[in-house]
Amino acid sequence: MGLVTFREERCKGCGLCVEFCPKKIIVLADHFNVLGFHPATATDLSRCTGCGICAWMCPDVVIEVDWNGGKPPGERGESPA
Ligand code: SF4
Ligand code: SF4
Repeated sequence: MGLVTFREERCKGCGLCVEFCPKKIIVLADHFNVLGFHPATATDLSRCTGCGICAWMCPDVVIEVDWNGGKPPGERGESPA
C-alpha cells in the first residue's frame, strides 16, 4: 500500500491524476478549495500501490507519494500498477 497526500489548496482540478491513476482511486471532491476548484482526493488508499504516476502527472506538484519506506515499485515484490 502506498500513501498519497494532496496539497489541496494548490489543486486546480484539472483531472490528470484522476485520469492516469491505474487503480482509479482518485476523484475530484464535491467541495471547493481556496482557488475555487474541486480538489483531487483519494477514495481508497488501501488500494494505492504507491506507483507515483499521479504525482508525476500533476503539473502543480500537488501530490506527494510515500514510497513505502523508501522502496520504489519493483523493489518491494509488487506490481507498480
Ligand atoms: S500512487 Fe499510483 S495508485 Fe496511488 S493514487 Fe497515485 S496513481 Fe493511484
Ligand atoms: S493533476 Fe494535480 S492539479 Fe490536476 S487535479 Fe490532480 S492534483 Fe489537482
